[in-house]
Amino acid sequence: MRLKGQIALVTGGSRGIGRGIVKAFAREGAKVAFVYRGNKEAADSLVAEVQGLDGTIMALQADVAKAEDAKTCVEKIEKEWGPVEILVNNAGIIRDDLFVRLEPEAWNSVIETNLGGTFNFTHAVAYGMMKARKGRIINISSVVAEHTNPGQTNYAASKGAINAFTRALAVELASRGVTVNAIAPGFIETDMSAAVRNKAGDLIKKMIPARRLGEPEDIAKAAVFLASSDAGYITGQVLTVDGGLSLGASAM
Ligand code: NAP
Repeated sequence: MRLKGQIALVTGGSRGIGRGIVKAFAREGAKVAFVYRGNKEAADSLVAEVQGLDGTIMALQADVAKAEDAKTCVEKIEKEWGPVEILVNNAGIIRDDLFVRLEPEAWNSVIETNLGGTFNFTHAVAYGMMKARKGRIINISSVVAEHTNPGQTNYAASKGAINAFTRALAVELASRGVTVNAIAPGFIETDMSAAVRNKAGDLIKKMIPARRLGEPEDIAKAAVFLASSDAGYITGQVLTVDGGLSLGASAM
C-alpha cells in the first residue's frame, strides 16, 4: 500500500475523476475525505462503497468557490483525523459558449469554481504542510489549457491559470518538502464529457492515438503516483494523461 495511513482530501470526489481518485487512494491505504457540492446520493454511495472495502472515508458537503467552506472542511478533517497530507484540487465545472455570447455569470462561475476552488483549498492546507515539511498538492487541469476548442474561453482560462499556479507555488514550497503538480486529462468518460461524447464520441476516438477515451482510473493511477513517495523529487509539473490526444496527430 503506497499511501498507508496518510490523510488525503479530494475536492469533487463524489463523481467522475474525483470518485476514481478517492477509491484509488483508499485502496492504497489512505484515509480519504472528499468534498461534493450537492449530489448527496452519489456521495452516500461512494461512502458505502469504500467502507465496504474496509476503507476510511469522510464526505463533506461544501462549495469549493467559498473560502469559508474550504476552511471549515480542513478544520473538520484536522479535528477528526489530523493534518491533511495530500490535497487533490479536482472539483470543476464547464459552462461552454462562444465568447460573444458568454454571460459574465458563466465566466465567473467557472473561474470561481475551477481556479478559485483550487486557491481556497490550497490556501487552507499550505501553511500546515509547510510546517509539517511534508505534503502533496495535485491540481486537476486539462489538455484544454494548451489545446483549446471553440466555446471554452472561460474553461481554458481557468485551466491555464491552474498550470501557472502549479508551477509558481511549486517554487515556493519545494524547500519545505511539499510538491505541487498538475494532471492534465484528455477526454475522460464522466458526466462532464457526456454531452460531447454523445455528439462526437466516434470522431473523438479517432483523434486519440490510443483509440479509446480515458477512464477515471487512468487519472487516478497518475494521482496515486504523484501522491506517493516515488514522486518526491517531482514538482511543478503538468502530467498529461490523454492517450496521446494532445500530440496532434491527424485522425486515421
Ligand atoms: P464531473 O463528473 O462533472 O464531477 C464533478 C465533481 O465536482 C462532482 O463531484 C461535483 O459534485 C463536484 N463539484 C462541482 N462543482 C463543485 C463545487 N462548486 N463545490 C464542490 N464540489 C463541486 O466532472 P469530471 O469529469 O470528473 O471532472 C473532474 C475534474 O477533471 C474537473 O476539474 C474537470 O475540469 C477535469 N477534467 C475533466 C475531463 C473530462 O473529460 N471529464 C477532462 C479534462 C479535465 P456534485 O456531485 O455534488 O455535483
